[in-house]
Order: sequence, then C-alpha cells, then structure tokens
Amino acid sequence: MTAATLTIDLEAISDNWHALDALSGDSTATGAVIKANAYGLGVARVAEALRDAGVTSFFVAEAREGLVLRRSVGDDAEIFVFSGHMAGDANLLERANLIPLLNTPAQIARHFQSLPKHPFGIQLDTGMNRLGMEAAEFAALRDDILAAGPALVMSHLACADDPNHPQNAAQLAAFREMTDGIDVRRSLAATGGILLGKEYHFDLTRPGIGLYGGLPFTEARPVVRLSLPVIQTREVRKGETVGYSATWTAERDSIIATLAGGYADGLIRALSGRALLWDDDTPCNLVGRVSMDLLTVDVTDLDDIPETLDILCDMQTVDDLAEMAGTIGYEILTGLGARYKRVYKG
Ligand SMILES: *Cc1c(COP(=O)(O)O)cnc(C)c1O
Repeated sequence: MTAATLTIDLEAISDNWHALDALSGDSTATGAVIKANAYGLGVARVAEALRDAGVTSFFVAEAREGLVLRRSVGDDAEIFVFSGHMAGDANLLERANLIPLLNTPAQIARHFQSLPKHPFGIQLDTGMNRLGMEAAEFAALRDDILAAGPALVMSHLACADDPNHPQNAAQLAAFREMTDGIDVRRSLAATGGILLGKEYHFDLTRPGIGLYGGLPFTEARPVVRLSLPVIQTREVRKGETVGYSATWTAERDSIIATLAGGYADGLIRALSGRALLWDDDTPCNLVGRVSMDLLTVDVTDLDDIPETLDILCDMQTVDDLAEMAGTIGYEILTGLGARYKRVYKG
C-alpha cells in the first residue's frame, strides 16, 4: 500500500493536557484549543480524548468548526468561537450552542439583536492588534456588556513564546486594567502564557500547541509519528544526480530509496536536502528536491532496507522538522496532508 501512516497518540495528548493543567492552580480551569481540525490531527478523535481527560471548555476559530466539535463532545461542554459572531452565523451559533467571543462593537450589536438571550464572551485587544476590542471601545460599551452577563472575557498574548519579551508584562497590565473588578471569568494564556507563570492564568487557560506536542511546551510528549513507505530503491553511481533540477550529486556510489510522501502531503519543499528520515534511531539524509508525492533518501549506510522510514518520530519532532524548513511546528502540524492513513493510539 502506498499511503504513509500518520500515528496520533491520544494518550500523549491527554498526558500533555494533564501536565499543562497541573501547572496552574486549583482556581484555574484548563481548556483546549482544537481549531483547524485539532491542529490537523482530527477533531473528532482528539476532542473525545480531551473530553475524557476532563476538558469542559473548548475553543475553535469559526462557527462551522464548533458544529463539528459539538457532535463529538456532546451537549455538556462549552464551546467558544474566536472569530465571534459573523454575519450569517446566528443559526449555527444557536443550533450548536456555541459561545461567540465578540470582537467589535458591530459584532456586539449583531449578537444582541439577533440572539439576545444567547451566551457570548468578549475578546479584548491588549496589544497584539489582531482580534478584539480596544480599551476605549470596551469602555464605551462596558455597562451594556456587563449587564448582559458575558460568559468570558479574554485576550491573547503576542509574544508569550519568549518569556523575556517586555510585551508580556505590558499586555498583562493592559488586561488587568480593562478587567480588574468585573465579575466575569477571565482568560489570557495559551500554551506560552501558561508557562509564564500564575499571574497570567486567571480563570481559564487555552492551550493548543502544547497539547499536540509542540514548543514552547518543552516538556510535551511527542504526539505524532509519520512513517513513509519505500516504493523503490536504486543504485546511483558516484557523480550521478538525483531528482528535479539535479540538485544533489552522489559523492560515492549510493543506494537511494524513493518514498511515498511529498509537498502535497505537507512535507514542504523547503525541507529539500535538509530533513532526516529515520530507521528507528538511525538517520538517513533526504537528498535532492522534495517533489509533490515523493522524496528521495540516501540509505547507503543501512544494513537492510526497511519497509518504511519515519520523518516524524521521537528522534525528529514537528519542531525539529520546522526548524529545518525555516518555519514553526504549528505550520508543519496543520499542513499534514489528507492522503495519510491516520491511526489513533491510546
Ligand atoms: C490558537 C490560539 C490559542 C492556542 O494557542 P497555542 O499557542 O497553540 O497554545 C489560544 N488563544 C487564541 C486566541 C488562539 O488564536
């Protein structure tokens, strides 16, 4: 069979959630962000595993994701939507009982008009300048908002992956200034914010990447393994080249394996000539260009040619691969393609 196998360790996800939960005190609840199909790993299975681990608050990017999530976690969990209440969302928000995190005065007006009794939260901008109301907008509507009883007030940190960045403390101060003294649950921290310490935790945290084994949660258990089948091997003489544009030249007589998996599967072309493929704990160099469906690997030094080689495993995490390609683990994870056979473990 040609399909590569992506193994997703649900027990590791659950352990990572417990580990992040243990970092905050008893008065802080730990939610889970499962936007973008649970960072590419499959919302249905991941959400069920997290619910079974004890998660009762979930976050998605848009209302349609919330509908899918509602089907897998059942009626009890609360589901927040970061993009808030967009035009045309009312039906979906009501039907799936989703809580929009309202971002603008226009969203507030839309929500109060079309779903007056329906729960909502508020997203504030404390310096990232991406989503949420600014301090002055919030101040102007504060009485109306608080009278309607928001379920949550939240903001998002721009630099939490760097504990020394001065913007962390600045955003914390801005958040406190806007929300201290109001009787509403508060949320500021994603994975990075949890690691910054207790003053960032408030009532509810929102980890995503740390659950899925990525930085900045260095203690995370790896969650994914990606094994690519060997389709063919060939002898390549010293001086011959491999792949598109002939970018790699054999410096010795070599054995080259061609594997199923390419940039159409999220193994981005920037990995060309950089990534390693692993036979258990033995590394082999990816040589030449990554093509759409295939990549080529120098297996000359292996005693036996295995049926598969791993490009993601305990030896090479999503962050290792991301660094080789000049990107971040989030992008590698969410780009993992649709052609893999997905196997859930745990
Ligand atoms: C994606 C996202 C999160 C989760 O962030 P991680 O860095 O993956 O933990 C939390 N809050 C908001 C607003 C987000 O967009």
